[in-house]
Amino acid sequence: MEKSTTFAQMHELSIAQSIVALAEEHARRHQALAIEEIEIEIGRMAGVELQTFAFALACAVKNSMLEKARIIRHDIDGEGRCAECDDSFKVETLLSPCPRCGSYAVQLTRGKELRVKSIVINK
Ligand SMILES: [Zn+2]
Repeated sequence: MEKSTTFAQMHELSIAQSIVALAEEHARRHQALAIEEIEIEIGRMAGVELQTFAFALACAVKNSMLEKARIIRHDIDGEGRCAECDDSFKVETLLSPCPRCGSYAVQLTRGKELRVKSIVINK
């Protein structure tokens, strides 16, 4: 139990550090002094524990250009489409069957996002 928790936190922390690095790279390329705002999209099916991630990001922004930035996070619900009956529906887990016909041939159409949507810099 202890071990898997540590591993999960490392996973979220490395994602948070990548986001900070990406934002700083963007800011430097545009000769910015600071980053005012960053918008991040995370799907609920992306394998990211959102509370852990929020904590990891708060750590990762310290002493970075993002330290005073407003962080806007969009959590995106999972959405699937059934390959059998073509129905679209909300997905809670990766092993959910189609609620209409019960098929497991479900393709995830939303919810795996993990990206920076926008960055506002201050020159
Ligand atoms: Zn179906």
